[in-house]
Amino acid sequence: MSKVILIGAGGVGTVVAHKMAQNAEVFTDILIASRTKAKCDALAEAIGKYGKGARISTAQVDADNVAELVALFRSYQPEIVVNVALPYQDLTIMDACLEAGVNYLDTANYEPKDEAHFEYSWQWAYRERFEKAGLTAILGCGFDPGVSGIFTAYAAKHHFDEIHYLDIVDCNAGNHHKAFATNFNPEINIREITQKGRYYEDGKWVETGSLEIHKPLTYPNIGPRESYLLYHEELESLVVNFPTIKRARFWMTFGQEYLTHLRVIQNIGMARIDEIDYNGQKIVPIQFLKAVLPNPQDLGENYEGETSIGCRIRGTKDGKEHTYYIYNNCSHQAAYQETGMQAVSYTTGVPAMIGAMLFLQGIWKQPGVHNVEEFDPDPFMEQLNRQGLPWHEIKDGDLEL
Ligand code: NDP
Repeated sequence: MSKVILIGAGGVGTVVAHKMAQNAEVFTDILIASRTKAKCDALAEAIGKYGKGARISTAQVDADNVAELVALFRSYQPEIVVNVALPYQDLTIMDACLEAGVNYLDTANYEPKDEAHFEYSWQWAYRERFEKAGLTAILGCGFDPGVSGIFTAYAAKHHFDEIHYLDIVDCNAGNHHKAFATNFNPEINIREITQKGRYYEDGKWVETGSLEIHKPLTYPNIGPRESYLLYHEELESLVVNFPTIKRARFWMTFGQEYLTHLRVIQNIGMARIDEIDYNGQKIVPIQFLKAVLPNPQDLGENYEGETSIGCRIRGTKDGKEHTYYIYNNCSHQAAYQETGMQAVSYTTGVPAMIGAMLFLQGIWKQPGVHNVEEFDPDPFMEQLNRQGLPWHEIKDGDLEL
């Protein structure tokens, strides 16, 4: 019997709940808790369709409030909390896990609300406390971060003696037929993309202008797409955990229409994250913008095309140089048919469920705070194939990078 609490009933939370309910032999009791209980109730009803199996309940919780979280954890007594609320809540949920003696998993690293800045230092500072408490915290278990780190660990285990160059490539070749929309929480998404670019080279971080470096890359079954160098959080842990890496970069595709809207949003001040006075009321422009943009959860129905996310790696094995490209392609329509959500939520939620499953099975259980690449990648890779995210490899091909 395994009890879990899922925090967050948004796009990603919806997928996690569906996939947990499909694996009810592992997830026997699921409590869906979020700020708006009505969303948890609707989700519980939707996953009720899997019939026999998991016992599902719901609760309202403010995940910014440690005391509320502790009370919920103590009354439900889960083995693990899967946090797919927003990155702002990571630390309060980790604090509550320590206080109530519960294990932890998330998909995005902590960000303070008033600073568009993310790094692992805040969460790595919990290492000793989790270790002493005998609790496991699994960080960044979505697709990227998440599967990107597991693909790298798999490549290091089976295909290379030393990894030298790592390029994580993330293409969304889908079309949702809206002039402008973000694929996950718009506030978090716009904060991520509008910050300066950064990559790792020869032991140092190199900063670039926002979306300054770009080139066309060819994605399997999709073709060439303009790809932009961004900073992405898994680079920070991967260069620590694979110290032979000489250069690590992250690339994401954007269409011209998306970039034009983004530029206008920034130029007119709508991406601001500080409070402004509006008719005597304090509002944060990017939060107001979120309220008028399409809800990412509603994009699924008319979304066509697919995502393609993977790792392009160059390194050595037995003294010879090799290249290796490992990737997953995920169809927006297939994801929608299964869970009611598009592929960006699907590719995040499925790995979060797999990470929790491996923890509950005792396979990924290790007291302390860990990034996904620190665990054995093999059982995770096997589950990706079974749970809807099959992967493919190209050995010694042209990486274009
Ligand atoms: P949504 O905005 O769709 O959902 C967030 C959910 O969290 C909502 O249900 C929201 O409640 C709830 N929530 C927000 N604040 C609180 C709070 N204080 N207390 C309780 N619940 C709260 O976001 P997504 O589902 O798109 O994203 C979820 C997470 O996944 C984010 O952290 C995002 O960064 C991460 N992510 C990771 C990816 C990866 O590959 N690693 C890719 C995409 C996303 P309400 O409904 O009331 O607003």
